[in-house]
Amino acid sequence: MSKPGSKSSSNLKTSNHAVMGNYGRAELAFSHGEGSWLISTEGHRYLDFATGIAVNTLGHSHPKLVAALTQQASKLWHISNLYEIPEQAECASRLAERSGLDKAFFCNSGAEATEAAVKMARRAMYHMGYQNRHKILCAEGAFHGRTIAMLAATDRPVFREGFGPMPDGFDHFPFGNMNALRDQLIKDAESGSPEIAAVMVETVQGEGGARPLPDGFMAELRAVTDEVGCLLIADEVQIGVGRSGHLFSFEPSGIKPDIIAMAKGLAGGFPIGAVIATDAVAAAMTPGSHGSTFGGNPLAMKAALTVLDILDEDFLADMRSRSADLMTELKTLSQKYNAVADIRGNGFLIGIVLADGITPIEIMTSLRQHNMLVVPAAGNTIRLLPPLNVSRADIHHAVATLDAVFGACDHNAITTR
Ligand SMILES: *Cc1c(COP(=O)(O)O)cnc(C)c1O
Repeated sequence: MSKPGSKSSSNLKTSNHAVMGNYGRAELAFSHGEGSWLISTEGHRYLDFATGIAVNTLGHSHPKLVAALTQQASKLWHISNLYEIPEQAECASRLAERSGLDKAFFCNSGAEATEAAVKMARRAMYHMGYQNRHKILCAEGAFHGRTIAMLAATDRPVFREGFGPMPDGFDHFPFGNMNALRDQLIKDAESGSPEIAAVMVETVQGEGGARPLPDGFMAELRAVTDEVGCLLIADEVQIGVGRSGHLFSFEPSGIKPDIIAMAKGLAGGFPIGAVIATDAVAAAMTPGSHGSTFGGNPLAMKAALTVLDILDEDFLADMRSRSADLMTELKTLSQKYNAVADIRGNGFLIGIVLADGITPIEIMTSLRQHNMLVVPAAGNTIRLLPPLNVSRADIHHAVATLDAVFGACDHNAITTR
């Protein structure tokens, strides 16, 4: 018998010994998935309320996605943006139509999308003759990705440690505080040489702990950005693609951003990123101004088109009703157990805020022992990110599992007192 961690051991940790140690991983691997369930290499079934961090929009092995990708795989994988890509043109027009914006650009990940969104905002200002307007205002607690520039946009100082110097041109405002944000914007506008190009926000902070902006915030933000002449970037990387119950999370607020960054769930598990912009912004992106080798290749576009096909209004209405049921059941749990401090979020990006003294890791480990997968987040929160097509039966199963885990948690707290 080999010890875990010894060279001869065949467990996951040692088989990964040449993989860089920048992730904290559970010692668990999967061989395949079926809908909302993942099957481990040991043959155990896990209810997947993590979905690869909001990526497997339609769960695993969705027959339409499998068919679309296998069909495309036998025809053409990659061709480059040196040529016309009809699938890309179709995907762009679908995103433009459904967002109410005009033009789309494709890349391969969230950080690439947010970074391209920032490049577009700066370039649009430059193009309009405002060379000084380069600064991007982001919310405290925001997560926008891990490239050097997006680390400056992301408000998590520990992520920056040892990676400095950070690029200039990013600033943060207190989360959800419209008065503070408005003051910052108006002061900048009245300074004689305004520097702010755009405000970039997530309507629900994902990594930040499933924290939703207050009601009415997006409408006020649109009004004040219009007033001072700066742009509004919606980071829809996590909350977009239907996760809020609408294709774009800002839809219920009745506003349109100037620029939208998307990624994670857009192609249901295939790597993709996209930026959608108004014509006024897109006009600055002349040939050669930006690019991505893989961006918008036919495989990614087929996957995204299939996801967009399925996420029609009927699907989303049904999803909103399943999400409301889950929310109601979770709120009941939060009243029942001391371990749960709060339930928050939107659609299928739900945060369970844990009581002081209980850590997300504890609860995640316990849930994993009960064959359920979730994701930790900032603010002592665990995130539930089920597939958008999760069945009511699987939702009840999840609630029963959470009930058992939080019940045991409260029981232990009493018996150890
Ligand atoms: C995950 C995420 C990103 C970064 O996406 P990557 O694909 O990991 O680069 C950016 N913004 C938000 C809101 C995210 O949740």
